Amino acid sequence: MKRALYLFTALAAMLFASCSNTESHKPKYVFYFIGDGMGIQHVNAAQLYLDSVEHYNNQTRISFLDFPVNTFATTYAANRYVTGSAAAGTALSTGSKTSIGTIGLSADHFDSLFSIAKSFKEAGYKVGVVTSVSIDHATPAAFYAHQPKRGNYYEISLDLVRSGYHFFASGGIKDPTGKGSSNPGISFFELAEQNGVVLTDRIDLIDSLSKTSKTLVYNAPNYASGNSLQYEIDRRQDDVSLSDLTSAAITALDNPTGFFLMVEGGKIDWAAHDNDGAATIKEVIAFSQAIARALEFYNRYPDETLIVVTSDHETGGLSIGNYQNGYDNYLGLLREQKISQGNLATVFKSLKKDNPKASLKDVKDSLAHYVGLYSTISTDDIDNAELNRAFQVSFGNAKSSKHYDAFNYNGVSDIAATGVAILNRKAGLGWTSYSHTGSPVPVYVKGAGQDLFKGEMTNTDIPLRILKASGINR
Ligand SMILES: [Zn+2]
Repeated sequence: MKRALYLFTALAAMLFASCSNTESHKPKYVFYFIGDGMGIQHVNAAQLYLDSVEHYNNQTRISFLDFPVNTFATTYAANRYVTGSAAAGTALSTGSKTSIGTIGLSADHFDSLFSIAKSFKEAGYKVGVVTSVSIDHATPAAFYAHQPKRGNYYEISLDLVRSGYHFFASGGIKDPTGKGSSNPGISFFELAEQNGVVLTDRIDLIDSLSKTSKTLVYNAPNYASGNSLQYEIDRRQDDVSLSDLTSAAITALDNPTGFFLMVEGGKIDWAAHDNDGAATIKEVIAFSQAIARALEFYNRYPDETLIVVTSDHETGGLSIGNYQNGYDNYLGLLREQKISQGNLATVFKSLKKDNPKASLKDVKDSLAHYVGLYSTISTDDIDNAELNRAFQVSFGNAKSSKHYDAFNYNGVSDIAATGVAILNRKAGLGWTSYSHTGSPVPVYVKGAGQDLFKGEMTNTDIPLRILKASGINR
């Protein structure tokens, strides 16, 4: 009897072990999603918005909230507590801390730091890098480039060619010919041609071109300022989304040996630098929809797929709750905002150009149309005083008293920024900074190897654990 019980227990333990895929399987397909500037509150606010307005683009739930591993990672850089995208991207790609502004090099710039994407490539996996901003921006660059300055866009584009990765997709390349370089040489296009890199702006051709080219680079047509995809809040039906690019990347990379795909939601950060709550939330939702594509893939290969979702730093010091609303919030009001603050700035700049004598009434009509103020949302004396002041700055000669650090390639307009700030205030969102903050970032993990990510981490632990889960040594 005792022996039978022992056998039964041993058998049960074996069965349990074989069912526990996270222990016994190594991922063959690795997805690494980085929401630039995405703090825990950006995710919370996006879910609360979906709850308030019931759905957006048929989505009711942020796709990664239910991942079995939810934890946090600290983000400090080698030489500053509040990090930037280059240092944080390098930490997330290489497993080493570096200095602010540095891409793929040690803090003193003497040594190269190598991305886990390179390790996956050397292990025979196909590698893809996808972003909603330009492909030479700090986060994607950290996965293939080695530059002392993140602004070395031309040099970064040459590093892209040298990486030999299989697939890149983004809003474009900022300086392919070296206009901004102190030492320009061969253009990106020439080097690309010499190395068999194929360029396309046709998303429908990615499937066939990826089968015949060593490296395929897709640049989205109708890109927004800064060679980025259109903000989700500004996107028209025929503009590509991050979700479209993720699907295309899966098609381009899928092969029996496996792949490593990094996808950045790059404009969550830009919208948060602008303290633009509606645009930020819709960028998080677009990021969530891209992750939903990876989840569909996971459902086909649950034992062989690992999905890691994290962020490089928090941007804006976002809170749900503020001084004006106390315990209440009205996030549903954000649905009144029709375009990003960046595009609203362009609206007001055009208005001023076409009609230099535009009145406060004209401006109020635009605010009513684009952000709902003076129509569905009423304003009080404090709001009106602030808007009058901003009107004097944008349409008169008054000097701005604000110190924006906005990542807004359309330029800052006081009247657009003030209109959006008032809407955010009324919705119950609080912003404490136009910059990044030192808040830890969330980490969500699902799939083969997920248990390795439990517990407290700093950002450099994440890539090292991805390699460990995959059984890759370097
Ligand atoms: Zn960043």
